[in-house]
Amino acid sequence: MKRLKGISFPTENGRYANAEIENLPLPERVVLPLVTRFGKMIPIVSPGDHVQAGQIIAKGPQKWFPPLLASVSGRASAVSSWPTGFGDEGPALVIESPEGDTPPPRDDVAQKDLPELMRWIQAGDIREVDPSPLPLALRLRKPDLVPSAFASFSPALEKPIHSLIINGIDRQPGIWLRKAMIGLYKNELLESIPVLKDTTGASRVFFAVAKGTDLADDLLQGLRERGVEPVFCPNIYPIGLEPLLIPFLTGQELPPNSEGGREFGTVVVDVTTALKVRGAARGEIPSLDVVVQITAPSSGIDTLVRVREGTLIEDILEALSLSREGLAKVLCGGPFLGTALHRLDVPVTQEIDSIILQTEQEIIHYSNEPCMNCGYCVLHCPMKLLPNELTKHCEYGKFDVAERMDIFSCIECGICAYVCPVNRPMVQLICFGKREIEAARKES
Ligand code: SF4
Ligand code: SF4
Repeated sequence: MKRLKGISFPTENGRYANAEIENLPLPERVVLPLVTRFGKMIPIVSPGDHVQAGQIIAKGPQKWFPPLLASVSGRASAVSSWPTGFGDEGPALVIESPEGDTPPPRDDVAQKDLPELMRWIQAGDIREVDPSPLPLALRLRKPDLVPSAFASFSPALEKPIHSLIINGIDRQPGIWLRKAMIGLYKNELLESIPVLKDTTGASRVFFAVAKGTDLADDLLQGLRERGVEPVFCPNIYPIGLEPLLIPFLTGQELPPNSEGGREFGTVVVDVTTALKVRGAARGEIPSLDVVVQITAPSSGIDTLVRVREGTLIEDILEALSLSREGLAKVLCGGPFLGTALHRLDVPVTQEIDSIILQTEQEIIHYSNEPCMNCGYCVLHCPMKLLPNELTKHCEYGKFDVAERMDIFSCIECGICAYVCPVNRPMVQLICFGKREIEAARKES
């Protein structure tokens, strides 16, 4: 196993151990963005149509695109522009007067028929918090399950899968959703393992958790009986992210611009996604709900809620009776990896696992001070980059130099900003540089 760079953080002690998930009431509308990580969806319902929960409401331009499903029943409105949890804005479909019905499981989805199961996972619109260049329903397929219509999408799909990592490590310090889900749904997690093993064909399966995570004896026994190796990984952020976790467990480095672990025979699935795959294997539609951690330090709130996908952050606040007074910033996606939002009419989608509400006193303000060459960012960068130099090149428009220095290997983990004593806006500068390089590539 490899030695890791990053930052050490203490074991989360007990906050997740007795966690419960509060089911919040339906809001007056849900907002479903039509732009996903894989591209723009085309709506197939018209304004005024009544849609059913689980009905396909938008399709992608390619066959391999997962469809977009209605998370509630209700009346579809016209497509309009909405802010997203990633700081941008885009077209979204609004469903008004929602009803919270849940379609009954389809009993004709037979677990034994793998091609049918893969079709159901594909149709289930499972989207992940961890970004991956390959959608889940493609990534999970061993080569003989990849239909010829999909094979041309990526040469990575022709590679056999030797390792499967079920990832129970939370993405960043302060987030404990995955640990809680392991405790709450241990039997369901065990049921997901044969499904994931069958679809991937992986001969080696890891169950990765952070050191100190309390795993029940029957879970550990169940994992071993299913041929799964539990691995307690060091509490070093960002070990829970695929570019660090795969090399740590398998020794395989992921080169820049690769298509992730699938290209090298490893598939990583986080525990919440594993639970959704298990749901799909039982004929359920696993994508209607989102479980999200809501943290408001000034109100002493740190809790898990379950909402229908597309519920607005402002409706969650109202349901939890959280005051907006003094609220200065919303971090959507966690303290290190999240996006700072300054509005609350933002829909919560499956790609979001946490929302942090900050007052003015809790915000870290970045400065325009020059780098003092202390080297802390270089010391801690998990991708072994030179964040000090990269950000200076982005700041002064030397994007070609930043590109040669592997700017695209940056996983935007935020460690360089966290350790920087002058609070330089490291990730913002790197993201700016990446955007400029991508725009220049498109123009040429
Ligand atoms: S944000 Fe990028 S440059 Fe900064 S520490 Fe993380 S990987 Fe390194
Ligand atoms: S941590 Fe900040 S001040 Fe220190 S070298 Fe990096 S960018 Fe410069």
